Amino acid sequence: MTDPSQFNCDMPDYKACPKLLKGQKALVTGANSGIGEAVAIGLARAGADVVVNYVTNPEAAQKVVEAIGAEGTKGLAIQADVSKEAEVQAMFKQAIETFGTLDILVSNAGLQRDAALTDMTIEQWNTVININLTGQFLCVREAVKEFLRRGVNKEVSCAAGKIICMSSVHEVIPWAGHVNYASSKGGIHMMMKSLAQELAPHHIRVNAIGPGAIRTPINTDAWSTPEAYASLMNLIPYRRIGEPEDIANVAIFMASDMADYINGITLFVDGGMTCYPGFATGG
Ligand code: NAD
Repeated sequence: MTDPSQFNCDMPDYKACPKLLKGQKALVTGANSGIGEAVAIGLARAGADVVVNYVTNPEAAQKVVEAIGAEGTKGLAIQADVSKEAEVQAMFKQAIETFGTLDILVSNAGLQRDAALTDMTIEQWNTVININLTGQFLCVREAVKEFLRRGVNKEVSCAAGKIICMSSVHEVIPWAGHVNYASSKGGIHMMMKSLAQELAPHHIRVNAIGPGAIRTPINTDAWSTPEAYASLMNLIPYRRIGEPEDIANVAIFMASDMADYINGITLFVDGGMTCYPGFATGG
């Protein structure tokens, strides 16, 4: 076991240094849309160079790379299907060869394939589990190999590496008609906590963000008409939909040394959706 005293770290003066992630290298999966796009640009705004993973729509990925450049750091688009082991390994190899190392992984790529249980095909089940859960395992494994190889570089961060898993309120809120999706997010919860426990002695932090309803293409039906939006508000005590930047702000914090003592948690960013709003007037 490494001597823990070597991890003592003076907290930086953040007022003097607004670039919380200066000099850090990040990889964000599914970064050419929605939450991943906002997180990638947010990390760049905080000073990080960012790999923009995408699987389809290279033009959108290129736009995110340009937005990163406008923040004054480097962006690099890499195509890889996160559910394919060889593609994930090739992506991390290219990322590390280009940027020299990696400090932050935001494992964000995910999708839904909704159906009632008796209509759900094995393809719908497997697609969601393979991308949302196994895809995170594959990316986390490659990132951690690099964190362990390099160890702590105090010039850059107090930690040897930071993992942020994009979970969901559905890691705790059951979701009828979405058993594949809710199971994948429940799986992420225990994957994240088990890895936080396993990797803490190496000074690697593993956490998750649990978004509530965020305005992205994954859930257009839930917010794109006034009726749908009004109905959605019944689930959100704070009475507004979340924006991708709400998640990006939290990702910057969790990846930074401001959050150096946070390990093994899901931080819900949901306007109170996990407060069971149905009980506000009943029960
Ligand atoms: P989105 O559809 O805008 O983005 C999903 C991204 O994942 C896209 O870039 C897509 O191309 C990518 N992706 C899908 N399959 C992939 C694969 N095999 N390999 C690589 N990339 C792949 O949706 P979003 O809302 O931005 O979702 C991002 C994450 O946030 C997902 O994990 C989702 O479950 C989670 N989330 C979203 C909400 C919400 O309300 N929007 C709520 C809770 C959790």
